[in-house]
Amino acid sequence: MSVTSGTPRDSRAAIAFVFGLVGGIFICLGNLLFFPTGGYYGGPFGTTGFLLSVASGALVILAAAMAFWRPAQGLPWGVTEVVFGSLSVLTYGGFLVGLALAVAGGAIAIVVGATAPTPHAPLETARACLGCGRLFSREFAFCPHCGRAVPPEPGRGGA
Ligand SMILES: [Zn+2]
Repeated sequence: MSVTSGTPRDSRAAIAFVFGLVGGIFICLGNLLFFPTGGYYGGPFGTTGFLLSVASGALVILAAAMAFWRPAQGLPWGVTEVVFGSLSVLTYGGFLVGLALAVAGGAIAIVVGATAPTPHAPLETARACLGCGRLFSREFAFCPHCGRAVPPEPGRGGA
C-alpha cells in the first residue's frame, strides 16, 4: 500500500524538514547538555540566552514543519529557519551542527518554496478561446465571451 497518496511531495522538502528538525533539536540540546554543568548557563547571555536558544530551536523546528506542510510558503518559513538558526550562534549554535543544519534546511525550504507549483496557476486552469482569443476557465464547454464551442482537449481524459 502506498502511503503517499494525494499530492506528491518534493523530496527536497522532506530533506529540508529533516535538516531543520535535527538542527532545531541540536540547538536545544546544545544548551540542555551544558545547562547542568554550571558556569555556562546559556553561554555568555545567562539564563536569558538559554531560554532564547531553546526558543530559537523550537522556532526552527516549527518553521521546518510548516515549510514541509506548506512547501509553497517555503520562503517565509525558510527565512525563519535561517534567521533563528543563525541567532543560535550567540549561545552554542547546537555545537554549530545545529546551526549549519538549520541554515541549510532553511535554504532548501526557500528554494523549494520558490519552485513549488502554485495550486491555482492561471496557465493551468485557463485556456484561450480559438474564436476570440480571450482566456476562460477549462470548466466551460463554450466560450463565455463569444459563445464558440470549445473542442475537447487531447490527453485530458474523455470517454
Ligand atoms: Zn471566445
